[in-house]
Amino acid sequence: MKCDVAVIGGGPAGATAANELAKAGLSVALIERNLNNAKPCGGAIPLGLIEEFDIPADIVERKVTQMAVRSPKGRVISMSMPNGYVGMVRRERFDKFLRERAASSGAELIEAKMRAVKQTTDGYQLSIDATHSGATEIHATYVVGADGANSKTAHELGFPANEFKAVAIQQRFRYSPELERYHNLVEIWFDGEVSPDFYAWVFPKADHIAVGTGTEDVNGNIKKLQARFREKLDLKVEPYYEEAAKIPMHPRKMFTQGNAALVGDAAGLVTASNGEGIFFAMQSGKMAARTLLKVMVGKEKSLAAYEKHFRRQYFPIYTGLAFLQWAYYRNDRLRESFVAICEDKHVQQITFDSYLYKKMVPAPLWVQAKITAKNLYHLALGH
Ligand SMILES: Cc1cc2nc3c(=O)[nH]c(=O)nc-3n(C[C@H](O)[C@H](O)[C@H](O)COP(=O)(O)OP(=O)(O)OC[C@H]3O[C@@H](n4cnc5c(N)ncnc54)[C@H](O)[C@@H]3O)c2cc1C
Repeated sequence: MKCDVAVIGGGPAGATAANELAKAGLSVALIERNLNNAKPCGGAIPLGLIEEFDIPADIVERKVTQMAVRSPKGRVISMSMPNGYVGMVRRERFDKFLRERAASSGAELIEAKMRAVKQTTDGYQLSIDATHSGATEIHATYVVGADGANSKTAHELGFPANEFKAVAIQQRFRYSPELERYHNLVEIWFDGEVSPDFYAWVFPKADHIAVGTGTEDVNGNIKKLQARFREKLDLKVEPYYEEAAKIPMHPRKMFTQGNAALVGDAAGLVTASNGEGIFFAMQSGKMAARTLLKVMVGKEKSLAAYEKHFRRQYFPIYTGLAFLQWAYYRNDRLRESFVAICEDKHVQQITFDSYLYKKMVPAPLWVQAKITAKNLYHLALGH
């Protein structure tokens, strides 16, 4: 089989890239190893993503406007979002929708595992193991690697390795009377006992709540952390589903090379501090696809332009959130200060505005001065 672009991986990054490319009239093979995949994920997405990518109302199961952050000593700061909401999706439905949209735009959706990819004189040769028709070869002029945190595409094509990975686990609990309070509430726990270097969460979905935690200590016992979190939440019911996966915590040193581009988790595009990856997966998929279209008509020299634009647009966010994690997630004293500062209405507003639309709008100088002073005060007192 021959095509213009082979997109490897049908998650949010790959499905978005394939949709953009197919809409523009290219022949696209979207290769996904499991069309019934349920990517382990909290499925929290910002309003800006829902609007920009036209996510239909029935895919967004909950529009959550209340949020609470909890400190190691049990201090709870409750907040509400006046101008937006966090959308909650279930990945098995969300990814399927995105893939089907790409297919209806003209991409050929192939259920197969990519086994090998190598560069040839005029493109890329892929060996895939199709679920129904056995081994097949695909020749593509361009390759988009969207195959997640353990990207085989990146490995096969010799991209620099991504060493920075965290592990996260999540369990699903059906609603019961004791869990009703989570219907419109996202709860975030900053507590060394449930996560020594990240955070733990409760996310509400249509018929269940998702409870999870993460850590950068990939050799530690994530199951123990999750058990402790359940204990602290005092959950009396048993989960009906458990899922876990790695999260890249740092962008790769390079994510374009020749006529190949990595997008989403394959490129390591999850932000530190909040572990958000879906928005950046879809943005990188779209940006890589649009750059590829420009390269084909000579408006850009190479796919490197995608990496350059992405870094320019989003790396201030990556750097800022990496600093936040470094500054506050190291011990419970710092976590206590972090939660205390969340009480400030301006801090809440800046957090929500930057999360919902990924726009970093500098606060007025007096607000910055006030936040800095409060920060120093809480850090000095440790609460
Ligand atoms: C427990 C957990 C909770 C999370 N919560 C959130 C959250 O609430 N909000 C958020 O924004 N982010 C969250 N993330 C991060 C988010 O899940 C990822 O950043 C996001 O899924 C990245 O999308 P992607 O398309 O790049 O990769 P993926 O979603 O990982 O998709 C990769 C796809 O490639 C396929 N694939 C892999 N290898 C092959 C192969 N060899 N051949 C063919 N197909 C292949 C896989 O089956 C998969 O469908 C969470 C992550 C975890 C682990």
